[in-house]
Amino acid sequence: MCSVRVSEAGQTDIQKLHIAIIGSGPAGYYTAEALAAAGDRVAVDVIDRLATPFGLIRTGVAPDHQSIKGVTRRFEKTAKRDNVRFVGNLAVGSDISIEELMDIYDAVVLATGAMHDRSLGIKGETLPGVRGSAELVGWYNSHPDYAESGLRLDMTSMVVIGNGNVALDVARVLAKTPEELSGSDILPDAGQQIARSQVRDIWIVGRRGPQNASFTNKELSEMGQLAQAVALADPGQFPSLEKDDALEPGKRKMMAILRAFTANDAGEKPIRVHFCFFSRPVAILGEDKVTAVKFEKTRVENGAVIGTGVEWDIPCDLVVPCIGYLSSPIGSVPFDERAGRFVNEGGRIADRLYAVGWARRGPTGTIGTNKPDGAEVAARLLAEVTPTGRKGRKGLDELIAKRQIAAVTFRDWEKIDEAEIKAAQGTHPRLKFTRLGDMLKATRR
Ligand code: NAP
Repeated sequence: MCSVRVSEAGQTDIQKLHIAIIGSGPAGYYTAEALAAAGDRVAVDVIDRLATPFGLIRTGVAPDHQSIKGVTRRFEKTAKRDNVRFVGNLAVGSDISIEELMDIYDAVVLATGAMHDRSLGIKGETLPGVRGSAELVGWYNSHPDYAESGLRLDMTSMVVIGNGNVALDVARVLAKTPEELSGSDILPDAGQQIARSQVRDIWIVGRRGPQNASFTNKELSEMGQLAQAVALADPGQFPSLEKDDALEPGKRKMMAILRAFTANDAGEKPIRVHFCFFSRPVAILGEDKVTAVKFEKTRVENGAVIGTGVEWDIPCDLVVPCIGYLSSPIGSVPFDERAGRFVNEGGRIADRLYAVGWARRGPTGTIGTNKPDGAEVAARLLAEVTPTGRKGRKGLDELIAKRQIAAVTFRDWEKIDEAEIKAAQGTHPRLKFTRLGDMLKATRR
C-alpha cells in the first residue's frame, strides 16, 4: 500500500492527480500552467533531461532575440507554484523508462519538442561542411550537446536551405557584427568565430516561390536592417505586383519586404544575403568536404513543387539545411516516423498518456501556439484521468535516490541562473554554462 501524505490544504496525496510532463520547454510549461490551475487536486512534475529548464527558449530561440526569451518569467511563476515541481538532469529513456513513469504517475504528458534535423534525402548530405540547423543553432546557443561542436567560418560562401524563420535566424546571426551581438547570450566561441568570419555570400534558397515562404514579417524585416549585410532578391523571381492583392494582409506585407530587397545594391555592404526561390536541392557536391550545392529550378503548380530539369550550382563550403525538425521516439510509444511526432488524437496517445507542442503537432507555430495547445490537452487530461493511487513524486524521489541521480530542482536552476548572470562579460546578459559538471557545481554554491 502506498503511504498517504496530507497536504496543507487537507488533500491526501493518494487523492491527488499525479502528473509528469516530460520536457520543460514552452509546450511543457504552458501545459503545467493550465494543469496547475486545478489547484490542490493536482501535483505536476516537469521533468527535463537537461539541468536547465525552458527547452527551446534557452537553446533554440536566437541569442540576439532576448525579448522573446522574456516569456521565461511567466514559466518561472508556474515553476514556483506549490503544485508544480521541476526535476532536471533526469533523462527519460536512459535514467528512467517511460513504462516506469507510467507506473509512478496517474498521467504522463510528452512535451519533448522536436530537436532533430529532418533529412534532405540527397547525395552528399553527410559530407563535412553540412551542418543541420539543430546542431548549428545548438552550437551558438550553448546547448550542452553541441556547444563543443565548433565551426570555423573561414569560407566565403555558405548556403542556407529552407524559407522559414530558422533559415532567417541562422543567416542573421552569422551575418551580424560583434556590436549587433553585444546584447546576446551567444556562446563566446561562436561570437568569436562570427567576428572573424570570412563569409561574404549567404544564399537562402527556397524550393517554392516568394509567396510560399513561411517567414514572419518581423524576422524578415530584420534582414533589411543589418549593419554589414545587404539583403538581395532577383526581381525576375517575383510575380507581377497585382498578384499580391489576392494575398492575405500578412503575406502581402511579406511580399512587400521581399520586393524591397530587389532594389538593394549588392555593393552596399560587405556581406550579401541572397534570397533565391524556385530551386530545390538535388545533391551536395564534394569529395571529402562540401564544395557546392546542386539545385534544380522549379515551378509551383497549386502549391506543389515541379522540377524543370534545369540545374544550377552554388559553390560553397558550408551548407545549413533549415528544413524542419523531428521529435525522437520514446520506448514503445506509437510514433509517426514520417511526420516525426507521436501518434495522437487531439493530444491523446493512449490511456493516461498525452502529447503537447511539437511532439503532438510537429514543428509548426510560434511559442505562443503552445498556450492554447497546452490548455486544450490539460483540460482533456483533467476530464479523462482520475487519481489511481499511484505514488507520484514520492515514487520518483525513491527511484532518483535508488539510482543516485543528481536531479536538479528549480532552486538549483536559480543558482545556475544567478551564476551565469554573474559571469556575464561586457554587455552580454549572461555566460551560459555548457557542461553539466559546471552547472552542478553552481547548484552547490
Ligand atoms: P518551416 O517554417 O516549416 O520552414 C521549413 C522550410 O524548409 C520551408 O521553406 C520548406 O519548404 C523547406 N523544406 C522542407 N523540406 C525541404 C526539402 N526537402 N528541400 C528543400 N526545402 C525544404 O520550419 P522552420 O524554419 O524550421 O521553423 C519551425 C517553426 O518554428 C516554424 O513554425 C517557425 O515559424 C518557428 N520559428 C519561429 C521563430 C520566431 O518567431 N522568431 C524563429 C524560429 C522558428 P516548403 O514550404 O516548400 O515545404
